[in-house]
Amino acid sequence: MDTQDLTETSFVSTSFQEENDSHENILRPKMLRDFQGQETMKENLDIFIKAARERSDSLDHVFLIGPPGLGKTTLASIIANEMGSEIRMTSAPALEKPKDLAGILTNVTENSIFFIDEIHRMRPALEEMLYIAMEDYEIDWIIGQGPAARTIRIPIPKFTLIGATTKAGQVSSPLYSRFGITCRIEFYSEQELSRIIRRSASLLDVTITDEAISILARSSRGTPRIANRLLRRLRDYASILGDGTVDTEIVLTSMVRLGIDDNGLEEQDRNILRTIIEFYDGGPVGAETLAISVGEAIESLEDFYEPYLIQKGYLKRTPRGRMVTQLAYDLLGTSMKEKRDGNQGILF
Ligand code: ADP
Repeated sequence: MDTQDLTETSFVSTSFQEENDSHENILRPKMLRDFQGQETMKENLDIFIKAARERSDSLDHVFLIGPPGLGKTTLASIIANEMGSEIRMTSAPALEKPKDLAGILTNVTENSIFFIDEIHRMRPALEEMLYIAMEDYEIDWIIGQGPAARTIRIPIPKFTLIGATTKAGQVSSPLYSRFGITCRIEFYSEQELSRIIRRSASLLDVTITDEAISILARSSRGTPRIANRLLRRLRDYASILGDGTVDTEIVLTSMVRLGIDDNGLEEQDRNILRTIIEFYDGGPVGAETLAISVGEAIESLEDFYEPYLIQKGYLKRTPRGRMVTQLAYDLLGTSMKEKRDGNQGILF
């Protein structure tokens, strides 16, 4: 393998379906001041960015943790905009061979940003390459084959790696320890989501009442991507079923049609809780067994459904598996006692 083979291939951005989603891009905030919520994290980032700019240096490597749709990709592009730097985006599963990663690393420019989504899925052989790149701004490359093979070190420009993950626990500690800045993105409050919805409605030219905004904010699972997606559906319902304005009636009717309750829970959320109660006596049940029982991929169970159910207090993760709480029994209209006494089936 010759070093000339390290040309950049199409791993950058190809897995980002959203890149092609013009709606998503219109709504994506470009600068830190437009990014709602996460105040402490934003203030810290602002300071680190300004300090790096003042030193004309690259920003330290940034690790973004949080469930899907909370703004990790958005934040990565904001950091690039605020730094006035180029950004390249990829995701760990798209990087299969060392050549894939080396191709990108040897093509990054000085002080630019390299964003890797789902970094917990990085292959071990590539992780090693990333450690050296992050620490020494060099990569090890093997040239030749068999006994004649030798390793050369190739210098690369000083860059900032932004790694994003929904599963911080699955990132190896050597990789984790090489990030200088860690940002944990939390679910958004109703007030923060209301501000996001107001901004999105204005960008999409949707008329929406204050009460409709509040109901939508409550139904969006603390997640901006869901708020924006629901807003677009409400716009559809409003234009076909109403006069174009998203008001209380439109939002309530639409939520019923979409199977979303007042707490933002979808049918599959209720199905997960009901399955644990009905088939596993309230738990504990292992994630894999549960995923099979509800016909869901383990990734979407763990990344999408569980974090919100846990945050809302319906579900607990224990060392022996998942368990529902009293709130889940209340939600589904039964009580733990009735269940324990065997009076099943009446209230489900
Ligand atoms: P993630 O990468 O964490 O899955 P994204 O960055 O793709 O999430 O965010 C999904 C969408 O939600 C973005 O297109 C953006 O419009 C919106 N969004 C996310 N976070 C915010 C925020 N803090 N303020 C405003 N909009 C946001």
